Amino acid sequence: MSRPKVTFPEKASSKEELLEEVKQRKRKDIDWRKGRAFCLVYYPGEEREEKIKAIYDQFYTENALNPTATPSLAEIEAETVSMCADLFHGDENTRGNITTGGTESILLAIKTARDWARKNRPQVKKPNVVLPESVHPAFMKAFHYFDVDFTVTQTGADGKADVKALREAVNKDTIMLVASAPSYPYGVMDPISEIAVIAREKNLLFHVDACIGGFMLPFIKELGYAIPSFDFEVDGVTSISADIHKYGYSSKGASVILYKEAALRKFQFSLYTKWHGGIYGSPTMMGTRAGSCIAGAWAALKGIGREGYLEMAEATMKATRAIQSGIETIDGLEIVGKPDMSLIAFTSNKLDIYALADELNKRGWHFERQQLPPTLHLTVNYIHRNITDEFINDLREAVEVVRHKKMAHLSSKVQAATVKGLSKILPAGTIAKLQKGSGDSIENENKAAMYGMMGALSGTQDLEEIVLDFLDNIYSVK
Ligand SMILES: *Cc1c(COP(=O)(O)O)cnc(C)c1O
Repeated sequence: MSRPKVTFPEKASSKEELLEEVKQRKRKDIDWRKGRAFCLVYYPGEEREEKIKAIYDQFYTENALNPTATPSLAEIEAETVSMCADLFHGDENTRGNITTGGTESILLAIKTARDWARKNRPQVKKPNVVLPESVHPAFMKAFHYFDVDFTVTQTGADGKADVKALREAVNKDTIMLVASAPSYPYGVMDPISEIAVIAREKNLLFHVDACIGGFMLPFIKELGYAIPSFDFEVDGVTSISADIHKYGYSSKGASVILYKEAALRKFQFSLYTKWHGGIYGSPTMMGTRAGSCIAGAWAALKGIGREGYLEMAEATMKATRAIQSGIETIDGLEIVGKPDMSLIAFTSNKLDIYALADELNKRGWHFERQQLPPTLHLTVNYIHRNITDEFINDLREAVEVVRHKKMAHLSSKVQAATVKGLSKILPAGTIAKLQKGSGDSIENENKAAMYGMMGALSGTQDLEEIVLDFLDNIYSVK
């Protein structure tokens, strides 16, 4: 990865030049339009995409910062929140906002809880949130940003939150509980109704993270899948995050944060009334807010509608089940837990799963690699409805290749063990250099060794250094 320094452009490039440049650059990107990516992108098909984009474009330049300047966007936002409140069994007291994504929704939920506690639980000096280890790292980002303590409890063998462990972790400083519907790593639903009992008993806030499930669960439930109640229907749930830019299939940059009542949402808002530039009040984390994303979210919900979401949810679940049963028929592979929705994690007790990932990458498939233990993660969506056979065939083939590559498997293990040993005696910077060395082999499609190494370093200071260096490198020119 050599990326030369660039100077500030003197002349204007033409539209054609810019388009050509982008086209070249995009060659290296994942081919999601052909259903080759089981992560990051959710595609509702060309017709729906065009429709949402047309509305997005109407607000391309608009700023939703000042609702009196663009009442259209304020209306659109309030109505989008209302549509979501309806979907998630809210009532006339439900409040919320559109945010830029799940992370912002979660940041706001934690900031709101902290400020709620400052007012309502003044005896708490350092607030604490109790949550299962399966929650999204956006929560840890929030705790870091807002200086809130947290206690993580272990999940059960089924990957779900352990209700007893959560109860035991609650202490006098606990202000909130969190659960996922479903959690990302294994796609399973936490026992939300049971956790809500603790929240009610102990008078705690309770956030349900439906970022990934929010726009699937209500529809697959309607289709007859066994989905337990997860939203405001459950007494005790006080806030919900749900991403419209995931299974809501909107343009990127759209999620909703919902609160059970107006009094709670007020703690989300930010105010400064003494500025010479005027009274500054803002509902979310952003100052300037892209009108396009808000309009895109609204256009997705209205332009797809319940009938469209049901159709997409049904096709997605059919594809999920086809892939699940395909995996189950392949000797050596195993699905982790019992996925409630369309997220699948699988592993192997016979093969190096990361070597299998390399083989699948070579065949053009993209997905996430998980750790602790190593698994591969597939987020199935509407685009995958026609490629399940092709994927399972390639998977079968890749498994055979890896089965006959026992040596490579061994060597990555040896390498991992070596680095683990080294990490005890070498300074972090040296480990980082080692990782940069293997950085070249990332492009040589031999990520298994690197992931093995990362796994061996899991939870160490060395790994943190490596990842910080990696982030510094990838967002830099050299
Ligand atoms: C994606 C996701 C998030 C974070 O959402 P972003 O839009 O990526 O910021 C949070 N929780 C879960 C369960 C998710 O899947």
